[in-house]
Amino acid sequence: MSQFRADLHCHSTCSDGSLSPEELVHMAIEIGLSALSITDHDCIEAYKQAAPLAKKLGLELLNGVEFSSVLDGVSVHVLGYGFSLDDAYIQELCEKHALRRGKRNKKILDLLAEHGMPISEEELAKVASTADQTKNAIGRPHIAQCMVNKGYVKDIKEAFKKYISDGSSCFAMGEPISTQETIDIIHKANGVAIIAHPHLISDSKTLLKLLKMNFDGIECYYSKFSLSENERWLKIAHNKKWLITGGSDFHGSVKPLIPLGCSWIPEENYTALRAQ
Ligand code: AMP
Ligand code: ZN
Ligand code: FE
Ligand code: FE
Repeated sequence: MSQFRADLHCHSTCSDGSLSPEELVHMAIEIGLSALSITDHDCIEAYKQAAPLAKKLGLELLNGVEFSSVLDGVSVHVLGYGFSLDDAYIQELCEKHALRRGKRNKKILDLLAEHGMPISEEELAKVASTADQTKNAIGRPHIAQCMVNKGYVKDIKEAFKKYISDGSSCFAMGEPISTQETIDIIHKANGVAIIAHPHLISDSKTLLKLLKMNFDGIECYYSKFSLSENERWLKIAHNKKWLITGGSDFHGSVKPLIPLGCSWIPEENYTALRAQ
């Protein structure tokens, strides 16, 4: 029997991934994953298609989401797992984020126009639209793609680096939703709240503060981690008796060098997570 591998972090066309929820389920089976969680940014729409298909094909699919949050002005991604898809708290937070994103994206487009790079809301909607109209979270990667299409930058990387990464000249955060509020909502939904890709929190004060909050776990395995980085986060998880999660953060063609399943957790960590 092949080794148990659970990839608990990936994105579908419902946010900024390039594969549909169904395609993700098929790919997970194709590459022999034992379990998958689709963690779209601020939305759980993917499960409408993915859940029935996974059930039919016998793939273990764990409900998940990656919420955007803010702690002391720093962007912090919070993974939530194990809530029910019809939970009213989670649905309400997703709706709040949809409104935040709408206003935030408009602000970024205004800033880009001020910098001589006009993009209309219609152009953005077109780039972000999918054949099945399931998109729920339009994000900066879609704005970056518009910038490439219009010849303002040569690639998505340049769009982020020069203009729309956190703190850059055309960046807007929108109305912040706090990290604590996000944890509380996930808990009210009987889910577990996990610190996503902790290495991206470059501010050490923010990281220390996060590690003192009432999270249930931390993402210890990630596509870009070396073995020593894994060890660093695993040690923290062990010390705090926190859950250990991990995944690729697969986005499809948006980040072509990061394949689904390139990072995963073994069975004992997955079982501990499911037991919560
Ligand atoms: P948003 O949720 O709309 O604020 O956009 C965040 C998304 O942009 C995340 O999926 C990130 O992976 C992606 N992102 C952030 N920085 C970069 C970058 N330098 N190049 C490509 N994608 C990025
Ligand atoms: Zn993303
Ligand atoms: Fe993230
Ligand atoms: Fe992600």
